[in-house]
Amino acid sequence: MIPLRIKVEANADQMFVVRLRSFEGVTREHKAGQLTPFDVVLDRVGPEGAHYVGEGGPIRILGIDPANVDGDVLLVNPRRGTADRLIRSSSRHNTFLVTERCDQICLMCSQPPKRHHVDLFPYFETAALLAPEGATIGISGGEPTLFKAQLFDFLERVLSVRPDLSFHVLTNGQHFGEGDREAMSCIDRGRVVWGIPLYSRDPVVHDEIVAKAGAHEQLLENLAIMCRLGAQVELRTVLMRPNADGLLKLASFIAATLPFVRTWAIMQMENIGFGRMNWKTLFYDSSEGFDIVGRSIDRVRSRGIDAWLYNFPLCTVPEPYRSLAPATISDWKRAYRDECNGCSVKDRCGGFFEWHPANRGYSKLGAIQ
Ligand code: SF4
Repeated sequence: MIPLRIKVEANADQMFVVRLRSFEGVTREHKAGQLTPFDVVLDRVGPEGAHYVGEGGPIRILGIDPANVDGDVLLVNPRRGTADRLIRSSSRHNTFLVTERCDQICLMCSQPPKRHHVDLFPYFETAALLAPEGATIGISGGEPTLFKAQLFDFLERVLSVRPDLSFHVLTNGQHFGEGDREAMSCIDRGRVVWGIPLYSRDPVVHDEIVAKAGAHEQLLENLAIMCRLGAQVELRTVLMRPNADGLLKLASFIAATLPFVRTWAIMQMENIGFGRMNWKTLFYDSSEGFDIVGRSIDRVRSRGIDAWLYNFPLCTVPEPYRSLAPATISDWKRAYRDECNGCSVKDRCGGFFEWHPANRGYSKLGAIQ
């Protein structure tokens, strides 16, 4: 698995953000023109690690090849001797975890909420401003909109300085209101997609999945607000046994009532966090029961709304729907199995979550010839 946290040594007391640069084959003058106060440049590599120097340093990186972290933006915690790779320059899958607090306790949550919260927005802002040209950065939690004022400020400031960046924010959609009109109007709405989960047309089923009474009603109210504010919404439905039977009804509801959504994503589960605890009762084997999924996709797409399959291995999807199943599993948690050797579609398949169980997952899968 790709490490998101690495070992460092830095002579500092407080956390700080730094960008690693190697500049192999680049002249000193050219180098100088490309440096910001947050950059450190590779000075030497030895058995005791890679040494970087510069305004943001000095700093020593241990246990990883400098070639693999060139251009990465790190949040360094010198007291712990660790650094989080906030931006991996070679990856499209960079996400800022802005909080671990949440007001829902979803049955399949891959990142169970915690009470503790540390405001890292200032560091995230610095990191975003150092991101590679044209990057899309994910924002997730917990529930990021529990810190809505900071989030809106962050988006407004970064997008105004970096018009090439865009954001994808995962939110439970419970905390928007008409009062957000002014803050939202300051954000370039064309460059922020809000990924919002809706699990069922049936309020009882949705509320049970998120363990919050009234969540469904609140969500529909807030989706209407998001529509009026001109927000780009990606609806997300994790497919599970409790909501699989109602998927077609949900598709009809989306097609008839929520035509403003940009995308509907039907998603497969992760076997981690609460998802692992509840796997037996929740996992829906779509390799056996794809019919309801296919009909639901067809219904929504027939009304001109994009519908996609996220986190589905291609061999579990019938051939006519494979073009709707992009490789969405993040690179750092993606894995392939022995069955994948020699598969003709491996280069465009997202494979499995690293923690997908060997014996309690899809019953039908295997290399496509
Ligand atoms: S065999 Fe592996 S690579 Fe091929 S479609 Fe299935 S999961 Fe993807």
